[in-house]
Amino acid sequence: MLSLFLAAIAVSTQFEAGSLGKVEHLSPVHLRCSVEGESDQDKRNRQANWYYFQLDGLPQSEIVVDLVNLAGEYNYRPGSHSVTKGSRPVYSYDRQRWEHFTDANVEWDEKEVRLRLKLVPERGRMWIAHVPPYTNQRLRRLLAEMNGKPYLEKQVIGRTVQRRDILLLTVTNPAIPPAGKKVVWLMFRQHAWEAPTSHVCEGLLRFLLSDDPAAAKIRDQVIFKIIPLADPDGVARGGVRFNAHGYDLNRNWDAVDPRRMPEIAAQRSAILGWVDKGGRIDLFIAFHNTESAEYLEGSLPPEAVPTAERLFRLLTLKTSFNPTSPLRRSGVSTTPGKPGRMTVNQGLYRDRGIPALLMEQMVEYNSKLGRLPRVEDRLEFGAGLAQAVWEALTAPQQ
Ligand SMILES: [Zn+2]
Repeated sequence: MLSLFLAAIAVSTQFEAGSLGKVEHLSPVHLRCSVEGESDQDKRNRQANWYYFQLDGLPQSEIVVDLVNLAGEYNYRPGSHSVTKGSRPVYSYDRQRWEHFTDANVEWDEKEVRLRLKLVPERGRMWIAHVPPYTNQRLRRLLAEMNGKPYLEKQVIGRTVQRRDILLLTVTNPAIPPAGKKVVWLMFRQHAWEAPTSHVCEGLLRFLLSDDPAAAKIRDQVIFKIIPLADPDGVARGGVRFNAHGYDLNRNWDAVDPRRMPEIAAQRSAILGWVDKGGRIDLFIAFHNTESAEYLEGSLPPEAVPTAERLFRLLTLKTSFNPTSPLRRSGVSTTPGKPGRMTVNQGLYRDRGIPALLMEQMVEYNSKLGRLPRVEDRLEFGAGLAQAVWEALTAPQQ
């Protein structure tokens, strides 16, 4: 009888990165939520693994949230879904501290392709998301905090479809001339849902801009050029993996179109412009997330292979990097023969022979950590990454 007197739980997504599709109230404590998902410019390759919503008016008894409408397509292969049996979404009561739903909180229905979440809320309001969110606002706050650091330079290299700034950060010791320094380019968030990579970026920046003597040494020897948010529009609207016109920003590096994909055009001209003005690039790395695979793959000239192999070994030895395959070599394109299917590393290698890597990190259970990866793990990995990159580039050749 009690349930008759319960008001319906209110669902909202009216905040940065908020996203959810249609919501049905099956009972006052049971919601059936369609995940919005996103398709590309040809209405193909639907991916539905970003949801971030607020629940209000929660009871002090168990609630049930079903996530449905998860099926999609990956690289034109239908039937795939990126919310899986191993997905453990996160919840928060303050949007600062995020906890994973545990195995006991989750039920997977393979037949319907449905993830059911069950929880007794501790407070009247909570937020649920696929992974801990990382917004434009959080990056702005971080950069405001870092403002005035002599080792950080900010540049706007272009604007997105919706006229947001595309930032390029440079981290190095400006008192030491660039000749003789190694140069590393890093790119994060080509795909909006992959928020954990932004926590890696933040961890890397916090370490590199810190008073740690190890960081000072790295700043003396390396120039880091960092594109922290490659798709700020997607991040703002709670998108999945396409820009505001539906283009995948980690394909299309062979189909440069400044009107439909101003993000790629701006990033590409910043990188190629650097090279064409005589700047070196010892390594480029783009960061991504997957469900349960973790790897490093590269489009590499032969002379850069030992550096990539050293980086792979150092990351495996010294960080939470948990490779599920050895160092991979990228093909020429993700879909050979079809235009608009080159990743950033494939495109940069094709255009200028830049040694370019792509790193994927899992968001599901990480056996090396012995748990689901937390925000703290990503921040710590960012610091370890900076050191591994430095060591890989400056180690004496064997
Ligand atoms: Zn990605």
